[in-house]
Amino acid sequence: MSAENNTFLKNKNLIDGQWVDADGGETINVNNPATGEIIGTIPKSGKAETARAIEAAQKAFETFRKTSALERSKMLRKLHDVIMENQEALARLLTMEQGKSIVEARGEVGMSAGYVLWYAEEARRMYGDVVPSPWADRRIMVTKQPVGVIAAITPWNFPSSMLARKIGPAIAAGCTAVAKPATQTPYSGIAWGILCEMAGIPAGVVNILTGSASEIGGEITRNPHVKKVTFTGSTEIGKLLLKQCAGTVKKVSMELGGNAPFLVFNDADIDRAVEGAIAAKYRNSGQTCVCTNRFLVQSKVYKEFVEKFSAAASALKVGNGLEDGVQQGPLIDMNAVESVEAMIEDATKKGGKIVAGGKRHKLGGSFFEPTVIADAKPRMRFAKEEIFGPISPIFKFKDEEEGIAMANNTVFGLAAYFYTSDLGRMFRVSEALEYGLVGVNEGVITTVEAPFGGFKESGLGREGGHQGIEDYLESKYVCVGGLGL
Ligand code: ADP
Repeated sequence: MSAENNTFLKNKNLIDGQWVDADGGETINVNNPATGEIIGTIPKSGKAETARAIEAAQKAFETFRKTSALERSKMLRKLHDVIMENQEALARLLTMEQGKSIVEARGEVGMSAGYVLWYAEEARRMYGDVVPSPWADRRIMVTKQPVGVIAAITPWNFPSSMLARKIGPAIAAGCTAVAKPATQTPYSGIAWGILCEMAGIPAGVVNILTGSASEIGGEITRNPHVKKVTFTGSTEIGKLLLKQCAGTVKKVSMELGGNAPFLVFNDADIDRAVEGAIAAKYRNSGQTCVCTNRFLVQSKVYKEFVEKFSAAASALKVGNGLEDGVQQGPLIDMNAVESVEAMIEDATKKGGKIVAGGKRHKLGGSFFEPTVIADAKPRMRFAKEEIFGPISPIFKFKDEEEGIAMANNTVFGLAAYFYTSDLGRMFRVSEALEYGLVGVNEGVITTVEAPFGGFKESGLGREGGHQGIEDYLESKYVCVGGLGL
């Protein structure tokens, strides 16, 4: 399938049910990171278009808030169905703009549908409370209602599923939305507009804008109609948006950076750990916020793990994600390649030993070899910074206490993984880790049923699980008095 005949490749923005260009007609080119080809041009919208989208969402909210939970649940079920009916086209579009393998892209689209179905179910369970009253003649009720217009800003690494986690609960709660996907991967975001139309979701409920991030973000955070901003992206931009939201005291949800540790204890099943390590590291070419940033391996099994893991990393098939059997696609762009190279150079200068990969891939462009660096040390940049690329630094620790201390020695706290066969250690370590998600003897753990989110500077709030709808709701206490008792 070429880019041209994919139904979901739409070069327009969706405002109030209308597919439109930017006011000035300005556009931005979008390219395929595997081939460098331009696959389309998207509108470069800014402040004025954003203000109109927010106004449309506010207008739509006045009626949408009155729909019943059952009606919204049915809309989401239909949305789930149209996503699954179009899974292959959506997956191919995703691979074309983002680079990940088609197998991973299909998985991501399936996950998007999964979030939508989960929130179709949760829509009907937004229970309030009837609380025992301290007054004989009064009754106390606590009800839930939608916050209003929400704005969603999403990154390029999961261009479909990051919007699913935001649009799904928003619709379930009865909110309306303005979404801004990342400029590198806008089509999987714009596709949500087409899918919502196919599912019969009313005009203005979901609006999609592409263009100047600072202008769109500026208007979203300034506009008093927006009651909640939900952001997934870098810690740097997350902090900026938090500041900008302060002026109108918006609710905020932030899914920010990570620095995931992956601990392998002496008593671990090493083959299982290697398998989990490959999945936890090289998925999406290392470009996820839950990808392992630091492998921490206990002394006795260090050598064995390094040997087996570097052999498995070297065996990964790198190539265009649309080709059969490819496990690692290109990095998102050349800036990403340069950033990865700089980290490798820093590590080798400080005594790191490259045991797999280490350089640009012979395919050229932004393809990069799966890389493993042994003898990693705390003074190397990746000890503190997020790598967001296919480099695996391997540090050594001597005992459980040191392993935990090293794992927690970061400002981030999103995902952590550890491998052990000792039941006591399983509880001790999982309780000691300052992380929002912990995988024990598993390297890939994200699922729609469980809450996803970070401790510390990795973010605020949770997405997925029954928790994921809370930030889209206000609680209201109603006191009914004068009962004549
Ligand atoms: P990454 O490093 O993964 O690209 P960013 O935080 O830069 O992470 O981008 C995540 C999302 O935030 C993207 O949609 C991007 O366009 C958007 N973004 C970047 N800068 C701003 C900004 N100043 N205001 C609002 N959104 C922004």
